[in-house]
Amino acid sequence: MQAVPSEFLAIDRKERANRPFFDLDLRPPETRICDFEDVVIEFRPERAMVEAARCIHCPDPAPCMTACPTHNDIPSAMWLIEQGRFAEAAGIYHKTSTLPEICGRVCPHEALCQGSCVLNKHQKPVLCGELEAFAVDYERRTQGYRIPLGKPTGMKVAIIGAGPAGVGCADILLQKGYSVTIFDSKPDPGGLLVYGIPNFKLPKDVWQEKWEEFEKAGVTFVPNTYIGKDKTIDSLFAEGYEAVFIGVGSEVDAKMEDTPGTDLPGVYEATDFLIRANVPQDQLPDSMKEPLEIGRRVAVIGGGDTASDCLRTARAWAPRKSPACTAALKRKCPAARSDRQMAKDEGAKYRFLTQPVKFIPGADGKLAAVECIEMKLGEPDAKGRRKPVPVEGSNFSIAVDTVILALGYWPDPIIGKTTPDLETHDWGLITVKDKATGATSREGVFSGGDCVTGPDLVVTAMVGGRKAGLAIDEYLRNKK
Ligand SMILES: Cc1cc2nc3c(=O)[nH]c(=O)nc-3n(C[C@H](O)[C@H](O)[C@H](O)COP(=O)(O)OP(=O)(O)OC[C@H]3O[C@@H](n4cnc5c(N)ncnc54)[C@H](O)[C@@H]3O)c2cc1C
Repeated sequence: MQAVPSEFLAIDRKERANRPFFDLDLRPPETRICDFEDVVIEFRPERAMVEAARCIHCPDPAPCMTACPTHNDIPSAMWLIEQGRFAEAAGIYHKTSTLPEICGRVCPHEALCQGSCVLNKHQKPVLCGELEAFAVDYERRTQGYRIPLGKPTGMKVAIIGAGPAGVGCADILLQKGYSVTIFDSKPDPGGLLVYGIPNFKLPKDVWQEKWEEFEKAGVTFVPNTYIGKDKTIDSLFAEGYEAVFIGVGSEVDAKMEDTPGTDLPGVYEATDFLIRANVPQDQLPDSMKEPLEIGRRVAVIGGGDTASDCLRTARAWAPRKSPACTAALKRKCPAARSDRQMAKDEGAKYRFLTQPVKFIPGADGKLAAVECIEMKLGEPDAKGRRKPVPVEGSNFSIAVDTVILALGYWPDPIIGKTTPDLETHDWGLITVKDKATGATSREGVFSGGDCVTGPDLVVTAMVGGRKAGLAIDEYLRNKK
């Protein structure tokens, strides 16, 4: 429900719908390829107020609220921002979201809140994502935010994985009065927010300040602990945890097993590449501390968000040296249009319907070229789908020094293999009996995020964690 109901607002919807739109200010591509800083220039308060005042306040429930996976009360926040009541607007987001300053930056808004804005019919949508980040940043700078802690229950819950799902779950459990311990195999918390999404999309200090809220709320973080090997879910119960949440993501890189040469020096997997290129040395796991060698000519294989992130990271890593290009198999690539456009603005070239068939070494044994074959869309199958098929004799080579394989992700099966009676499916995704609660086949074990859905979004993982947090509270209260 909207906190500020639209029927009480004295506004002229038609006049608002015709107010001029001023697009986001972005740092110019020539500057941003030289560093890893945020691309979007933050709103100034006056500019934020003008943008929020374009909201026409649709009747409850507004389409933007419905489209937002966490159902943020966007119209009420817009109303408060319009009047300069920024910290109050931030309070609206905290009610439904654990990571508003992060979702405001990395959500594919054009497909969610902004995509459903009714202004799209004849105008540009309200930039509600950027306004969300603005309001919460403002609150943090001016007064800070503390997670409201619940009355202590005396019970402790273990969370495996400190990504969006894990912290979403922790947020709710803290508010319900539980003692929360988060175990993670990495040295630092954040999951893909730190060890995946590059700095130019999500500056690391934004996450760092978020995490400090959890530290102040008393969360215990246990780093470098790989559940399934260093400890198991059974051993966590034996240590006295009354419930366990699994939020381990889906982070194992898909391979090109049948393509010769993927083991050549110069061929990287996306996760390894992004982590080593974006994460400061002291936050790197020991196995990733060796410096990257990125050449002048870089090819990225894949067409999703991760591929765009790899392209842009390669450009920022070696400015003006690396005319990065990508070879993608599919006709339509799934990457968010804005990410792809930014990569293009920064000098990247895309080649669609192109399949790498061999990575070729030079005389020094390092990667020197990639051989590709052109593809075309085949005849439609019974369901009308047209699969790409090779165009015979169309093979060609591209000289490259570095290739990054961004082919998608699989789940890590270890938790399923080491937890008796925990059902998994599709190579290790955790099976949940009830999507609304994240309850698994093991009593007291809940799960959410990418390890349940497969690779998805920060916001959907966080929602999965929050739902499970509520369900764990109900489960433990009933048990008591
Ligand atoms: C390069 C890249 C760019 C992306 N860009 C965007 C974007 O712009 N917008 C967007 O919305 N989404 C984006 N995503 C997707 C988004 O990051 C994920 O959907 C989200 O982080 C999933 O959250 P999660 O908590 O489920 O898992 P994760 O973020 O993967 O966190 C899982 C955590 O569990 C830990 N872990 C794993 N196994 C174990 C174990 N056995 N024991 C202990 N700990 C373990 C991991 O170390 C990790 O810290 C991107 C993903 C990638 C890879």
